[in-house]
Amino acid sequence: MPAMKIAVLSRNSKLYSTRRLIEAGQQRGHEMRRIDYLRCHMNIASMRPAIYLGDEELDNYDAVIPRIGASHTFYGTAVVRQFEMMGTYSVNESVAISRSRDKLRSLQLLARKGIGLPVTAFAHDTKATGHLIKLCGGAPIVIKLLEGTQGVGVVLAETTKAAESVIEAFRGLDANILAQEFIKEAGGADIRCLVVGDKVVAAMKRQGSEGEFRSNLHRGGSAEVVKITPEERSTAVRAARIMGLNVAGVDLLRSNHGPVIMEVNSSPGLEGIENATGKDVAGRIIDFIVKHAKPSATRTRGKG
Ligand code: ADP
Repeated sequence: MPAMKIAVLSRNSKLYSTRRLIEAGQQRGHEMRRIDYLRCHMNIASMRPAIYLGDEELDNYDAVIPRIGASHTFYGTAVVRQFEMMGTYSVNESVAISRSRDKLRSLQLLARKGIGLPVTAFAHDTKATGHLIKLCGGAPIVIKLLEGTQGVGVVLAETTKAAESVIEAFRGLDANILAQEFIKEAGGADIRCLVVGDKVVAAMKRQGSEGEFRSNLHRGGSAEVVKITPEERSTAVRAARIMGLNVAGVDLLRSNHGPVIMEVNSSPGLEGIENATGKDVAGRIIDFIVKHAKPSATRTRGKG
């Protein structure tokens, strides 16, 4: 297998995931480089799409690994799309990244394909609040800001009154929210499945700190390796495939009615999962790219 030239599109070379991807690529003999996508500029008007970093034209990469931060989705996906238009293989395509960044759209896509989800309701008009709460089976319910990450803006309302107040407050701020059935039996834990291609290459259980229903590691949760069931495995792989992601962090809860999906993340952090499981996830991502990246192997070429 000839060596490849692979770019990791990331803002910061010190980030664990970025470092590990570079390292795993180099260990396998590939030429690796971190490129800050916000410093790239593009020539869109010409018949020959081009992308530049300063004076340098970035026209000879075999593959890119997008690590687009949630706050830079717009520009970041434009950069990825430009690479796709040039025929460069992107391990996660721009359309799939954009899709996964919209929580509501993601849930709709997963629901359409029959993936298990917590009962979820969404409204713009606050007049619908009462019905929204009823749809989710009544209090306690979880209310989420659609734009939130790392558990910020995820609230457990224990009573109907509390739920009404929270919904009213968020709506007053003109925020988009969704209401969700509270999966109490998950016990403040979720399962993160790291999917590469059609496999779960690592899985961990995250447990929220004492008295916390949110399991986010950034909120003081702890992680341990977990053995997942065949149903959980196939749910995670199907969810990634429906989103169109080759690399995904699929979060699910263990509910009384089987695994339910919380979220499908297109730039999953590698630190927590590699440390918890001892698996070389970065290496599996590189191996996947080597197997699948052919010139112009990007399915959409930036279309859609
Ligand atoms: P974020 O994307 O900000 O991390 P999530 O929707 O993943 O937000 O919610 C954060 C955490 O809160 C989840 O990992 C899970 O532990 C908990 N949680 C979220 N929704 C529910 C729910 N409907 N029932 C039970 N726990 C939930």
